[in-house]
Amino acid sequence: MDFALKTRQRKLVEMVRELVNSEIKPHLLSSPAGSGFNRELVRQLAIHNLVCPTVPEEYGGRGLDRLTTALLMEEIAAGHPGVAAVIAATLHAVEPILLAGSDAQKEKYLPGLTGKDAGLAAFALTEASGGSDLSMMRTCAVRKGAGFYLNGSKDYVINAPVASWISVIAATSREQRKASMRVFLLEQNSSGLSMVRQRETSGLNYAPIGEIKFENIFIEEENVIKGQEAGSGYLLLTQTFDRGRAMVGAISVGIARAALEAALEFAENRVQFGTSIKNHQAVAFSLADMATRVEMARLMTYKACWLIDKGGDYTAASAMAKVVGSETAQQVTCAAADILGARGYEKGSLIEQLVRDARVLSTIEGTNNMQRAVIASQL
Ligand SMILES: Cc1cc2nc3c(=O)[nH]c(=O)nc-3n(C[C@H](O)[C@H](O)[C@H](O)COP(=O)(O)OP(=O)(O)OC[C@H]3O[C@@H](n4cnc5c(N)ncnc54)[C@H](O)[C@@H]3O)c2cc1C
Repeated sequence: MDFALKTRQRKLVEMVRELVNSEIKPHLLSSPAGSGFNRELVRQLAIHNLVCPTVPEEYGGRGLDRLTTALLMEEIAAGHPGVAAVIAATLHAVEPILLAGSDAQKEKYLPGLTGKDAGLAAFALTEASGGSDLSMMRTCAVRKGAGFYLNGSKDYVINAPVASWISVIAATSREQRKASMRVFLLEQNSSGLSMVRQRETSGLNYAPIGEIKFENIFIEEENVIKGQEAGSGYLLLTQTFDRGRAMVGAISVGIARAALEAALEFAENRVQFGTSIKNHQAVAFSLADMATRVEMARLMTYKACWLIDKGGDYTAASAMAKVVGSETAQQVTCAAADILGARGYEKGSLIEQLVRDARVLSTIEGTNNMQRAVIASQL
């Protein structure tokens, strides 16, 4: 077992850390909720071909493996969790194409997410009728002629207002919703696609999140990711989630690390009872617990990514990384707020922002209850 990162990975991490600290992190506290998106921060990543680094080199991407991608996601999230969410949503939208897309779909959809003018993508599954329970999904695509007519709506979709295209999950049979699911690749300018509203969330400022509606949108067969067998659309969906969860682990580690660093710096400089508060054992032990938890979440994320990269069975590992990561981010950001005392409760402060950003990690990409159901099913 080798815990050392390769030189290439360390150099990339150093480059991205520098880029995030100089060009992206300074905008964290000035991004207003809901309407904070601007292309400039994404462009900073695009200049280095980092908007969707898993896109294979033959389609213009960096072709990074999951472990290296997770290293970069930790860096981006440590500087600006909202930007990390925008990138993670794009990675997630691309996953079904990487897993099961045709060569023509790869050629059509992947190059646009690469290079300095890279666009973004979105992944649309959740509906008003249900997020966890996929049998409640109402969006339907009915076959007619050389394609499908898509009707329905999706909610809480990151990047929905700004994505060049959207991976939409819809059933093709009203009777067998789960078994008949397919991934439909929908371009933003499709006639019949409309934005119902933009959601304002309490965290992940910068990430544009919206409810979208589909009215009789014709989608040609060539823009449907087809599985070979009945039920394979659902399998594709579960594989997509199994991979995406490891990225939530990486974002969680980044947020927790940022909170730990802020708490440590504060504890070293804040003097109470004649000494820096870090010298009070209760504060030091709290910092020790935070550092231990961050390391645990990081190692579990690395292991899930390693399994994905080597083609192992990553379902449980990825769900575990997501549960531990998200709970770590929530615990560590709250513990950091305690160490900062009154300053940890100040509106507009870094810690306040990180607490809010961490809060949603146990909900997105399948709630932690659903992760536990996945893990239990694997025992
Ligand atoms: C900031 C943000 C970004 C998001 N981005 C996207 C996106 O890009 N694309 C997308 O498609 N969706 C997105 N979502 C939606 C997210 O995936 C869903 O919110 C999530 O899947 C939960 O669905 P729900 O909100 O309908 O909750 P529900 O499914 O209604 O669950 C409510 C509660 O009940 C619990 N629960 C439900 N069923 C069970 C069960 N069987 N056992 C135990 N507990 C259960 C859940 O754990 C949860 O605590 C986003 C949400 C947020 C807040």
